[in-house]
Amino acid sequence: MTNSAARTPKALQVLLVDDNPIQLSLLRHLFQRHGHMTLEAKNGAEALLVLASESPDVVVSDCVMPLLDGYQFCRLLKDDRATRHLPVLLLTAQGTGLARFWAKTCGADRFLVKGRDLDHVVEVTETLAAQTPPPRVPRIPSKLAQEGFTVEAIQLQLAKALEQRLVETALRDSLARLYTADHDTSRLIEGFIEVLQELVLPGALVVAYQGDEGLVCHGVHGSSASLEDRATLLQELGERGPFSLSPECHWHPASDEDERRKSLRNPVLRVLPATTPGYPAIGALAFVAERQAAEDFERLFEIAAEELGRLLSLEDSRLRLYHQAIQDPLTGLYNRKHVLDMLSIELDKCERFGQQLSVMMLDLDHFKSVNDRYGHPAGDQVLGIMSQRMLFGLRKVDQLGRIGGEEFLAFCPQTDLDGARALAERLREYVTVDPYPCLPPGDRVTLSIGLAQWEGPEDSADAMLARADQALYQAKAEGRNCVMG
Ligand code: GH3
Ligand code: MG
Ligand code: MG
Repeated sequence: MTNSAARTPKALQVLLVDDNPIQLSLLRHLFQRHGHMTLEAKNGAEALLVLASESPDVVVSDCVMPLLDGYQFCRLLKDDRATRHLPVLLLTAQGTGLARFWAKTCGADRFLVKGRDLDHVVEVTETLAAQTPPPRVPRIPSKLAQEGFTVEAIQLQLAKALEQRLVETALRDSLARLYTADHDTSRLIEGFIEVLQELVLPGALVVAYQGDEGLVCHGVHGSSASLEDRATLLQELGERGPFSLSPECHWHPASDEDERRKSLRNPVLRVLPATTPGYPAIGALAFVAERQAAEDFERLFEIAAEELGRLLSLEDSRLRLYHQAIQDPLTGLYNRKHVLDMLSIELDKCERFGQQLSVMMLDLDHFKSVNDRYGHPAGDQVLGIMSQRMLFGLRKVDQLGRIGGEEFLAFCPQTDLDGARALAERLREYVTVDPYPCLPPGDRVTLSIGLAQWEGPEDSADAMLARADQALYQAKAEGRNCVMG
């Protein structure tokens, strides 16, 4: 035995396909020298006949051949459940860009350039065979074997394979198009489900993903998916998906209008994790559908899960960048730019609908001395804790941002000065009342607050903020730890 054979414990049976007898004997020689067995065919059509009676571990095929070329042969193999698992290595001629493009798009697992890479052909084939999981389906006759390998049957299967490729491309395309400039995550997922729902109807389909605020689950169901079907689906998703918890699902009924069918006749349930290279599984797709639909659309569901992984990872990156752009990293509050942008939008509403609005400028008292006495890290902790306490004191509609080192801006929609004063007093109390774990127990941190209110269309954000600043200055002058304005 040679060294290479020792490296590969399993001797492979390799189907070699090439119309050039010299090339074919060269390949035979290379593989047999490494301890593998070979089967041979002179073109794709002959190779299909070989596959009717033999079960090789891997196919190594030329591209340009008479009768049925390598790309068409590969398409037929990958389109048939009986042969889809069989790894295919295509040998392309050198320097033809389109040949490599077709080799990639016809579903081949690998391709090598004949003149250049042939030294590695055995090694690459061994790796490919080792990486290929065993087929999930028991050996079944290929579609062409069932049809008796007539020219018509081959032509028909080729046309079907091309159509299948077209459907797959169209599916990828419509899913990729969902990612637009102005989408939000839940609309993105709803669009995804809408594209897929036709494939599972009258069953049910759910998409679960790790959202901004925890696990989110959206689903759609047809008239035949019972409550039990849906509950089982969620349970399976929890057990077999990337999330341990079975999520709460928002279901939308689909209008499949198939009132006659009361329950699924032969349902199967699938859970597909949504992954993308370089990202952990951040979502999953699960469905219950009629067995026939699940089998017919198997490849489409795999593509959908891949696209879901891609969409979710893009969405995750987008949200991370967005948060980085609007957040102050130390306190987690909005940063100066974002809180001012939001204020500007809110003032547009005030002007349009004649609503009231008040702003608060908040500044920590003698904060420099906190740093001086306990160190900058302790000062940072005070800023963090104080920010949370201020947030706690405000209402949901109010917005708060950090606009300077120890200066904050809050705005309160539909609130006049009296309302803002009451809120500000509450904030001042929340901030002071409890001790700070990072400071000695008796040491309190206090806050001075300046208020101003929107005076109508003649007013501007800058002018209003200047008045609040003036009021803050006054609060400092009055001895701090108070509200002015
Ligand atoms: P006043 O009551 O008049 O506001 O006094 P003050 O000491 O709070 O005001 P001053 O403007 O003199 O000092 C602000 C201090 O805030 C100085 C600076 O070191 C501190 N500071 C600003 N940003 C940060 C930060 O991110 N972390 C920490 N630890 N300290 C900060
Ligand atoms: Mg200060
Ligand atoms: Mg200051």
